[in-house]
Amino acid sequence: MDKPLLLVVEDDAAVRKLITMTLELQGYAFAAAETGKRALELAVQEQPDILLLDLGLPDLDGRDIILRLREWSDMPILVISARSDDKDKIAALDAGADDYITKPFSVEEMLARIRAAIRRLGLLREVKEPGQARFVNGELLLDYAAGCVYVRGEEVHLTPIEYKLLVLLARNAGKVLTHAYILREVWGSALPSDVASLRVFMVTLRKKLEQGPEPVHYIQTHVGIGYRLIRYE
Ligand code: CA
Repeated sequence: MDKPLLLVVEDDAAVRKLITMTLELQGYAFAAAETGKRALELAVQEQPDILLLDLGLPDLDGRDIILRLREWSDMPILVISARSDDKDKIAALDAGADDYITKPFSVEEMLARIRAAIRRLGLLREVKEPGQARFVNGELLLDYAAGCVYVRGEEVHLTPIEYKLLVLLARNAGKVLTHAYILREVWGSALPSDVASLRVFMVTLRKKLEQGPEPVHYIQTHVGIGYRLIRYE
């Protein structure tokens, strides 16, 4: 893959400087904007591969920026939000953001999330290739054509709902999916009471995938928000 271009959108000059200096030190290419309006312009002009978006901007709502970008772009969007704004975080993820980091964050955490976004970028490009009938993630293999799941070469028997859940997670590997999104995609509903049953299905799915003496952790829980399938090489 060519070197990815990151677009950093942050109105706080000190935070923006911290982010861009870190990216520079790591050898990433980037552009930076301090308003939502400028971010949308740069997104069109520069065609960045990954977006780092502060949700608290002076001019535009972060969610609206994401919705507008999602009309034409599937680039990974990493949202940066204040700790107390769970609602905003969920709204951003539901609008199509991929992941989030919470302020104050460490640069190591930010770099790890960027590396995850780069892996997801590779995955997005793979998926666009025709004939992707399999999903391989570490020791997890999904054979979409046969509807079979294997861990370390051993077939894992899933119920139809568990299989649907896993396919949804796999198709969005590396991306945080909110409870509402999963409920809508798998059951066609998003009643708050269904979150409890979703949790039960996730527990059994995880048990089936993460077994053996040294189980690999595939499904990550984001408390109060949703789930993510961790992407492995
Ligand atoms: Ca801000």
